[in-house]
Amino acid sequence: MPIYEYFCKDCGNHFEELRRFSQKDDEVQCPRCKSKNTKRAVSIFGTSGGSSSSGSTSQSGCKFG
Ligand SMILES: [Zn+2]
Repeated sequence: MPIYEYFCKDCGNHFEELRRFSQKDDEVQCPRCKSKNTKRAVSIFGTSGGSSSSGSTSQSGCKFG
């Protein structure tokens, strides 16, 4: 299950939720203020940074939906 980032418009909290792909746009409750006035933020995968010398990029068994 992928992790999605959410942003609470009420208290400004930024949090992450483990959700199914099909539920990524469902209502999410803010863990801090319990508000449902939240918005899904764009999450970026694979940003560990650094310079990698390996040039092979292979995805294995990545199934969404
Ligand atoms: Zn909140």
